[in-house]
Amino acid sequence: MLHTKGPLLSIDIGGRTTTETDIEPIQRRYIGGRGVGTRLAHERVPFEVDPFDPENRLYFTTGPMQVSRMSFTGRMNATSVSPLTNGLVSSNAGGFMSRPFAETGYGAIELVGASDELIVVHIRDDGVEFEAVPELAGATVPETTAYLEDEHGITSDRTAVIGPAGENRVRFASIMTSEDRAFGRGGLGAVLGSKNIKALTFDGDSAPEIEITATQNAIHREASTDDHIMKRQGTVAVMDLANEVDGLPSYYFSERTFEGVEGINGAAIEEKKYKKGTCSACAFACKLPTKDEATGVETEGPEFEVAMAFGSNSGVDDIVEVMKSNELCDRNGLDAISAGNTIAAYLAANDEFDNTDLIHELVEKIAHREGEGDLLAEGIARIHDELGVENWTVKGLDFAAHEGRTLNGQGLSYAVANRGADHMYATFYSVEYPLVAEEEAVDPDGTLGKADVLVHREDLMAVNDSGVICKFSRDYMNPERYEKLFDADFEAILAVGARTVTLERHFNNQRGFDRSDDDDLPYELPDLDAALDEYYDARGWDDGVVPDDALPEEYDVAGA
Ligand code: SF4
Repeated sequence: MLHTKGPLLSIDIGGRTTTETDIEPIQRRYIGGRGVGTRLAHERVPFEVDPFDPENRLYFTTGPMQVSRMSFTGRMNATSVSPLTNGLVSSNAGGFMSRPFAETGYGAIELVGASDELIVVHIRDDGVEFEAVPELAGATVPETTAYLEDEHGITSDRTAVIGPAGENRVRFASIMTSEDRAFGRGGLGAVLGSKNIKALTFDGDSAPEIEITATQNAIHREASTDDHIMKRQGTVAVMDLANEVDGLPSYYFSERTFEGVEGINGAAIEEKKYKKGTCSACAFACKLPTKDEATGVETEGPEFEVAMAFGSNSGVDDIVEVMKSNELCDRNGLDAISAGNTIAAYLAANDEFDNTDLIHELVEKIAHREGEGDLLAEGIARIHDELGVENWTVKGLDFAAHEGRTLNGQGLSYAVANRGADHMYATFYSVEYPLVAEEEAVDPDGTLGKADVLVHREDLMAVNDSGVICKFSRDYMNPERYEKLFDADFEAILAVGARTVTLERHFNNQRGFDRSDDDDLPYELPDLDAALDEYYDARGWDDGVVPDDALPEEYDVAGA
């Protein structure tokens, strides 16, 4: 099976030392990306570790095709114990970093320990350098990338950076790359901040060689010639449909349609898009560089999830105000989905929906932990009682936009996903909207009988995250293409995803996660209990807990 190459580079941040380890046996079993990151974390991170303890480890990994120039492969994975969910989380970012990362020659990079001063870690194929940067304390993401370019000639595509939010350990701080692309979900920016790392840079000339195949070329060609609506409107293209099917979270989840949808929908964003935007070498180019001439507001996005969180869920019907919120989150290094939902909770508690000045002020206050921002920086699950609002999270992660009360398979997916209420874990919504061919479509009503589809989709998405192949490639992929790309049987490829999901769950079980509190929703779904039973049966788990005999087979080998 095709897999990433190159050793694990482990960097002891406190001791300023590095070690290299051959991980090819792991790469053969887990491909790369999230699979390898999860397998390494499961073996090397203490199960009981606090997310901010120096012994927590953060992994950066990418996939084997990141040097192929194929569309949909300009993405990276990061894995660590999340300060937001307290479980193992992998987060995925686009942009341009994956290829500079591959050029270092390392298959995976591990960060362990913590520095006693703020540093930048420069990772090259001929060594690692630690640079003290006290002058960057409190710097925004653009200020930090400007420093790296001015002082070192390192462009933003070669960097991973945190803003004030990461330094201040905001539990939903992001790691930013290429300036405005985020490892967003799960607060891994706060883990980097706890290690006193302001930025990482990547450089080298040691990328592994890869054969460019006819399948890669065909996918790239189709992505470049297809007239797909996402090329014009990004993921916001689905907003009108979500609203029509009673599936657009609004006013902190109290409603499911938004009367101001036309102000924040696909057409509204298309009007502000001023140039093509993409990730490295991706001809699909679905990104959204947007600008408002009247106000000067300029950003990348917002995507659908952010247009929900800072738009309908905050009662805001003006795309420019949402663009401004998005820009403030990127600048400060915040996951814009979690920031928007957390602020929406505050607006609900204080009857302040649509107060855009307050919203923008709160983004800054959260990033700097000032005033009420210090409370909000803890995330909804930890503060909802104090605010007096419902806890709209699963496992501490607040909800994505695709509405589980409307798309019930997506709702079931939110309940069981190891990462929490995350739409990309299975992308179940994509077969429940009336958008796909009849043979793929799943009736959105009900949860029973959906477990097998859910398991399949979770496994397939874990393969994509290990590949690393963007999930928006879905219209261009099929089992035959997976087999050709990875040079393996489709069932064997899916088994990589199953192993990854199982190890995530087993890791979280050791931290106390089980069915009772953790696979639960803040709303009723039809037959949820029975559907959970079906899902656990399909996985071979006991009430949400992985039994020893369901662990991947290498765990039978002593010392593996
Ligand atoms: S489809 Fe969009 S998000 Fe995915 S790699 Fe291409 S440009 Fe990036």
